[in-house]
Order: sequence, then C-alpha cells, then structure tokens
Amino acid sequence: MFNRTALSLTTLLAAAPVLADEVNIYSYRQPELIKPLTDAFTEQTGVKVNVAFLKQGMVERLKAEGDRSPADLVFTVDISRLAAVVNAGFAAPVESDALNTNVPEHLRDPERRWFGMTTRARIIYASNDNVAEGEVTTYEDLTDPKWKGRICTRSGTHPYNIALMSAVVHHHGEDGAKAWLEGVKTNLARKPQGNDRAQIKAIWAGECDIAIGNTYYLGKMLADDEQKAWAESVRPVFPTFEGAGTHVNVSGVALVKSAPNRDNAIKMMEFLASPKAQEIYAAANFEYPIAPGTQAVELVQSWGEFTPDDVNLMTLAGNRSTALKITEEVDFDG
Ligand code: FE
Repeated sequence: MFNRTALSLTTLLAAAPVLADEVNIYSYRQPELIKPLTDAFTEQTGVKVNVAFLKQGMVERLKAEGDRSPADLVFTVDISRLAAVVNAGFAAPVESDALNTNVPEHLRDPERRWFGMTTRARIIYASNDNVAEGEVTTYEDLTDPKWKGRICTRSGTHPYNIALMSAVVHHHGEDGAKAWLEGVKTNLARKPQGNDRAQIKAIWAGECDIAIGNTYYLGKMLADDEQKAWAESVRPVFPTFEGAGTHVNVSGVALVKSAPNRDNAIKMMEFLASPKAQEIYAAANFEYPIAPGTQAVELVQSWGEFTPDDVNLMTLAGNRSTALKITEEVDFDG
C-alpha cells in the first residue's frame, strides 16, 4: 500500500513540472535567433527562460553585478567575446557527457568554460561575372597580384577579421601573417569600410570582384527583397589555408560562475547542444549545426561541403593581440 502511494506521487510530480523553475540568459545574440530555442526548452522542461539582450558591455555588467548577478548563462558569437568572458574569470567549467559528445573538441574550450553551438565560415564572395571557377581557392591566393584593385573587406580590426588574422598567424607565424596582410592591403579596391553585406553590394556595384565575409549573410540577403539582387551577383567560395581548412568561428555559450540556477543552466546547455536544438538554432541564422549527424538548412547545404580548419578556437583567441598588433602596424584600414 505504502509503495503504491509513493509510486503514484512520483508519477504525478514527473507529469507536472514546477513552473517556478527558471534560468537567466545574458545574450549578445538577437531576440529572434534565441526565441525558437527558449520556447522549445520551456515546453520540454517547464523551466522559464528570462533573456536580457545586450548590445555591448557584457563583461562590464558581470563585473558590476559581482556575485549578485542574476546571470546563469552567456550567449554570444565570436571567439573573442567568449574568451573575454572566460579571461575576466566569469565562466565556470562544465563537465557533461552530453556536451562532450555533441560539441566537437576544437569548438569548445579545452578547460570546458565555453562550448560552441553553431559555426559560420569566413569565406570569399566571388563575382559571378568577373571571377572564373577555381581562380581563387586559398586565403594565400588573396595576395596574388592578379587581384590588385579587386578586393573589398570591412575594417581589419573588426572581430571577424581579427579572428581570421589570428588563424593566419597560427598557420604562417607573425612575419608570414604580416606579409600576407600587406599583400591583401596592396590588392584592396578601396579602404576597408562597411559591414560584410556592404562588400557584397560593392561587388554588385562593380567596385570589386572578390570580398571577405561570413557565410550566413548570403542567406540573410537572399531572404531580403532589397538585398536579394546583390547576393545573386556573387557565389560563395570556401578558401582553405594551404594544407589546412576553412576558417570558422562560433556562436557559443558559457556558464556563469555565480549562476543562481546552475542546474537549470546546465540543463539548458545540454538542450542547446542536442541535435534537434542545434538544427533550430543554426536554421535561424543560416549557420552550421555542429552535433554529429545534424544538417544545415537546404540553402546552406547547396553552398557545398567544406573542410573546416580544426585549430582549437582558444588557440586563435591566444593569437588575438598579435593579430591586432600586425593589423595596426600594417595600417590596414589607412
Ligand atoms: Fe555577423
């Protein structure tokens, strides 16, 4: 009799999750990218998700709040922003079989203080009219004199380009990286300016023939009535480093050391890394999911397969100051 009562009570509790449970996220990622995931998580677990969207100042805010911070998780893109949270001492290591299984080793911190969730590649947008198939296949090709006056890019000091430069430093050393950046600067069609989308527009307008940018902007522009024609004037080329792969960066998540809802936060991280959530997250921004067996949306798949550079992103974070120093020495934006 006693046993039967205990069993029915357990069943009852399992069937009715307690809604007071919550988890708090500080996010640099935009609301529309997060919402499908947080909704699915709440539906599955009954845990309420509160999201504070930040444009900047994540580390400063965590610093100001100290141990009283309500933040459980940090969501952001770019290894430099993840590394900033880690290096300021706000990220706690997480040991989880689910995370270790679903997040490839080079896309997570060796010390488990951040985990990648989706990737984007930093590629070449090539003019359909003026660039032949196979004319540019490596990052090293960008210094070839045949591109003189034909390359566009955003500022060399933008985090996306600094991460790429950090990869150049990794593959070619400091002197080699400096020579590479000088070669690219020599080939520029105009001073670095605008965002990645503006480079595609510049190709469409005939100002340049190739540009450097992230994969997902092509998807976003094709979905935008005004920008569709610009995007249709280019095709994605996935350059590799000679003897290695294509530079990728991540969107990622970190557990805050002082997290007041630690168990729910880890539950959310494991949910995010699960194949189903990965595909939802990646689809929202035309990115690549990273869990084994997952697939990007059809449009992204149509761009073709590529070999990602498998250098650990923490190694790139370590090259950041060298990359920045070279970019300033070369006066890339000048
Ligand atoms: Fe972006």
